[in-house]
Amino acid sequence: MDMKLVKKISFFINTVLLVIVIFLMLFFYICKATFLVYFSIPTILVYLLSYILIYKEYLDIYLQLVYLWIIIYMTLSTICLGYDYGFHLYSLSLIPIIYYANYIAYKINTKKIATWVYSVAIIACYLGGTVYVAQNGPIYKESHKAAGVFWISNSIFVFFFLIFYTKTMVSNTIASEEKLKKMSYYDNLTGLFNRHYMMDCLNSKDDISANDTVAMLDIDDFKKINDVYGHNGGDYVLKKLSEIMNDTCTNGIISRWGGEEFLILLKPKDITDEIFEKLRKAVNEAVFEFEGKRINVTITIGVARRSEASSIDKWIQAADQKLYIGKNSGKNVVIS
Ligand code: GH3
Ligand code: MG
Ligand code: MG
Repeated sequence: MDMKLVKKISFFINTVLLVIVIFLMLFFYICKATFLVYFSIPTILVYLLSYILIYKEYLDIYLQLVYLWIIIYMTLSTICLGYDYGFHLYSLSLIPIIYYANYIAYKINTKKIATWVYSVAIIACYLGGTVYVAQNGPIYKESHKAAGVFWISNSIFVFFFLIFYTKTMVSNTIASEEKLKKMSYYDNLTGLFNRHYMMDCLNSKDDISANDTVAMLDIDDFKKINDVYGHNGGDYVLKKLSEIMNDTCTNGIISRWGGEEFLILLKPKDITDEIFEKLRKAVNEAVFEFEGKRINVTITIGVARRSEASSIDKWIQAADQKLYIGKNSGKNVVIS
């Protein structure tokens, strides 16, 4: 969210509030609530001044000024007309607004608001106004016919606002948790799953069976590739290799285990004859071309079945040991 959008929204809200205040001023006039008619004049001036504050990007001052003013306005309306009109109900919807404003302040990197000060002010004004009316009755005792309509429409507005606000907040929280979860499962460079996700898969007891297979895969002499073609050349090889793995082991779970090491998990139904030999060959024969230069890329693979080891750690170790054997026997091989 950028400042431009926040300003636009603030202009819009300010205009809506100004229109409401003018409308209410007329209503107070009809109700003969003279004090509230007069009080509407500085209120209108506050909203006119607010346009300048928004324009000059003093958004924190704008918000706090309007917020305080609404609290006072709401309290005075309750004291003058009584709580038959439901103006005091707005204090319920004011609380989430100030906390949300703090969230926006965090998003656009501006000063935070002392939310607790406003929360206390709202509670104090709400109790002060309603207790005063309960004990003394409203200042303008004659209730207008429209009081019921106001009470119902104010209640509906407050309820809908709270429902909409809570629903939006919960949906946003779920959406960002989902996004973070996804991000935490993927490797940035290759787009493959990361080690964290693979560990979760391996540790999910129900999903792993005795004939499941893991393959530990390591690029041969990758350090040399980095030395000759640079780090970007190395990154290109990692990405292209990931594509080849995705094309060859279509049903497997492929993860980037570490720098230039990958771990593939395959179910028995997905293990076709010589799938890893096919993968080794595919890499050996693929054309890796970076900045016009051909790069010779080969991989070594160590394969182990779940039944070969007593624990998940030992299973991975078994694949790693076979990879080690492959490295020591000239590389570019599959050891099962
Ligand atoms: P071997 O054949 O025995 O596997 O030798 P190697 O050179 O491939 O293995 P070594 O472990 O000596 O080197 C791995 C190199 O991988 C070292 C490190 O700089 C590089 N590397 C690790 N992560 C990345 C990465 O994300 N991008 C690039 N370009 N290089 C990386
Ligand atoms: Mg290597
Ligand atoms: Mg390595």
